[in-house]
Amino acid sequence: MLKFSVPQNIIVDYGGVGRLGSYASELKMTNALIIADPFLAEAPLAKQAAESLDAAGIKHTMFSDVKPNPTAVCVEEGEAAFKKAGCDSIIAIGGGSSLDVAKAIGVVVKYGGEIGDYEGMNNVPGPIVPFIAIPTTAGTGSEVTSFSVITDEARNYKLTVGSKLLLPAYAILDPGVLATVPARVAAACGTDAMVHAIESFTNTVDSTFSGMYSLEALRLIGKYFKRFYARRDDAEAARGMMVAATMAGIAFEATRLGLVHAMSHPISAFFHVAHGEANGLLLPSILEFNALADKGQYELMHEALFPEADYYDTESFVQEIRELLDAVGIPDSLETANVDRDAFLAVVDQMTEDAMKSGNVAVNPRSVTPNDVKALYRAL
Ligand SMILES: [Zn+2]
Repeated sequence: MLKFSVPQNIIVDYGGVGRLGSYASELKMTNALIIADPFLAEAPLAKQAAESLDAAGIKHTMFSDVKPNPTAVCVEEGEAAFKKAGCDSIIAIGGGSSLDVAKAIGVVVKYGGEIGDYEGMNNVPGPIVPFIAIPTTAGTGSEVTSFSVITDEARNYKLTVGSKLLLPAYAILDPGVLATVPARVAAACGTDAMVHAIESFTNTVDSTFSGMYSLEALRLIGKYFKRFYARRDDAEAARGMMVAATMAGIAFEATRLGLVHAMSHPISAFFHVAHGEANGLLLPSILEFNALADKGQYELMHEALFPEADYYDTESFVQEIRELLDAVGIPDSLETANVDRDAFLAVVDQMTEDAMKSGNVAVNPRSVTPNDVKALYRAL
């Protein structure tokens, strides 16, 4: 059995934030809650969005109390802001955190209760309020994935709400917003997108449809990643990376991911390494680990990422990945990632336990035991 869907409108529009008012009008928005982090809320981008809504006669209120790893309290505050201003719709501008909060607020303002009441898969009762997402990084794919991850501080626990009903009606990809992204963020997000495409393409879930998106994402990443890292205002490269990140998101929405994501989350949690950097740190050794299970996908990925190369074998492919990661400044060791070796070794058992709980372990191309995970952590 195979299921695949992309149930939303994706608009790639350079300068599209300036046309937000007309997109919002198409969705019959009259009064929108704009959700952004405090930095973005003060940026010219938010002003441009507000002016476009003004011109279209759409009222709007800014909710900017969004931090990384957003909490259930943040969702309650956003819900209160939505109700106080009499809003009927949501516009999220930002990375994964703003989009996670927006999805959660979209549920509670319509169906009441707390976001924890909707935890798990398919517990959202019906469509949420009209919702537009404007991603400001090229990486997470949150604009096309049906999950909201919220930290319940009372329980010290990350809860996940998953439902296709959470997907924004419009994902507006405006490559112009990437012009001011710092190089380091561009590298981490681009690496994350590349790992999404690789893990989706190689895992055990059927990839008849998603594989097309993964390979095209890898082709674009091979062509544009270094150029985008070098200049984020290179419009063609920014567009290529933004489309690649969204395509990789569509792919893994259908298939889940693999061992890199399972093992990178604990590293980020314990040592505050950026998600994309933790993925990059793990990718080469896990590609080697998974190579025994390769059914020919590695050569296809190699062709997509490195079309100029005149030679292929697994080792040369992994070496080329290492060189690409190195070119964009992704750390290749605990030392370059500023992680203390002894502190890392001290929590290998705990990180292994956490990694094995990930839903991405079961779909990894090669079967994984806790001892495998420990060995891979220790090898770092
Ligand atoms: Zn990721």
